Amino acid sequence: MRREYRTVILGGGFAGAHVARILAEGSTAIVSPESSMLYTPLLPEVAAGAIEPRHVVVPLRMMCPEADLVVGRAVGLDEAVRTVAVESDVGPVEVGYERLVVALGSTARMLPIRGLRKHALPLKELADAIHLRNHVLRQLDLADADLDAAERHLTFVFAGAGYAGVEALAELKVLVDDAMHHYPRLAGVPQRWVLVSRGAAILQEAPERLGAYAADLLRRRGVDIRLGTSITSVTDGVVDLTDGTRLASETLVWTAGVTPNRAVAELGLPLDGRGRIIVDESLRVEGRTNVWAIGDCARVPNPATPEHPDPPTCQHALRQARAVVRSLRGGTAPYRYRSRGAGATLGRDRGIADVFGLQVRGRFAGLITRGYHLRHVPLRSRRLRILADGTLSIAFQRDIASLATIQVRRQTG
Ligand SMILES: Cc1cc2nc3c(=O)[nH]c(=O)nc-3n(C[C@H](O)[C@H](O)[C@H](O)COP(=O)(O)OP(=O)(O)OC[C@H]3O[C@@H](n4cnc5c(N)ncnc54)[C@H](O)[C@@H]3O)c2cc1C
Repeated sequence: MRREYRTVILGGGFAGAHVARILAEGSTAIVSPESSMLYTPLLPEVAAGAIEPRHVVVPLRMMCPEADLVVGRAVGLDEAVRTVAVESDVGPVEVGYERLVVALGSTARMLPIRGLRKHALPLKELADAIHLRNHVLRQLDLADADLDAAERHLTFVFAGAGYAGVEALAELKVLVDDAMHHYPRLAGVPQRWVLVSRGAAILQEAPERLGAYAADLLRRRGVDIRLGTSITSVTDGVVDLTDGTRLASETLVWTAGVTPNRAVAELGLPLDGRGRIIVDESLRVEGRTNVWAIGDCARVPNPATPEHPDPPTCQHALRQARAVVRSLRGGTAPYRYRSRGAGATLGRDRGIADVFGLQVRGRFAGLITRGYHLRHVPLRSRRLRILADGTLSIAFQRDIASLATIQVRRQTG
């Protein structure tokens, strides 16, 4: 089967979907294995049950009505005949293009640590967030069923103290604290929450004052923060740290960085040492006139921050998407973007926000961060659903319904 388009976008994630939405042109196709775009910044709140999973995915057919959706995986590229090879559920599809935008994103970066791949729980996709929530709630049931092993089930280890790791820990701790009201047998069992980071501080991307506030808040909530520390091995029920600590735990949440999607290496485009596609200041792939690359899978130079390329964030992916559309429309201005700040939620309505040089902490910062996300989720219907979820989760305790048994049944058949 062959299909022809003027513009083909590989990847329907944050960067790719925004290119299609802003371009809003016929003869455009998005190649993506999923039919929805995931709004990742809200994944920690999905994992913690504050937001319904369906509400953080935006159907691409609604978000980009002018674009065609080719549901499948890009597995190869023949630049000589301008064709992308796609594997779909109905067989191979050849997708012809005049202009190609590569936005294949990233996956969790797994280090060569014994047992990591097998036991660590990543938080990158919607399925990860649903699985993590079910896993954590299941630990409470297991602790309740076997009091001798309860401390192990109530020890939660998080590796990686960037925004995703810190938010996930803070939000999941709220879920567990709320759920504990329904487990009277576990009242005397100590919980242990450990945040492990190789860095010298948590939230190093945030201004120092805000990172320090977040660390202080988490410590006051009983979180054990281990800086300059990493994981040496993970086995069934034990997590070993480089400082010699052995933690009896069934839960290691891994949010220690990302690496470009493996599919990128199949395209034959120029890559840097970290596997990212090399692009110039117009976001065109090095040496190409009709191929652009953006988002987490690209090494994007930015004159506003000459000391380093763009970090893998939604806010950069969105600005890059806008710049690609300008370039597709014939614009020649180079890409340039200076971040206007960032924010994180820390559970119990608290947060930190760094906006337009203003550093805010506490409830107001939590409100700013939620407001920012609400403004940036595409489609009003989705925004309202998220607003309703967030409001209900403040009014009531977290929903502790676990769907773990459904997952187990599906796996075992
Ligand atoms: C838990 C978490 C929290 C985050 N929080 C924030 C935050 O608060 N603020 C912020 O700015 N950033 C945040 N980020 C980072 C942000 O999610 C990424 O930087 C952003 O999603 C990058 O967009 P992208 O389009 O490059 O990649 P993605 O959004 O990952 O999209 C890649 C797309 O490519 C598709 N794809 C994969 N393989 C193929 C293939 N072979 N063929 C076709 N398509 C394929 C995928 O299905 C996906 O749709 C967070 C990330 C995570 C994981």
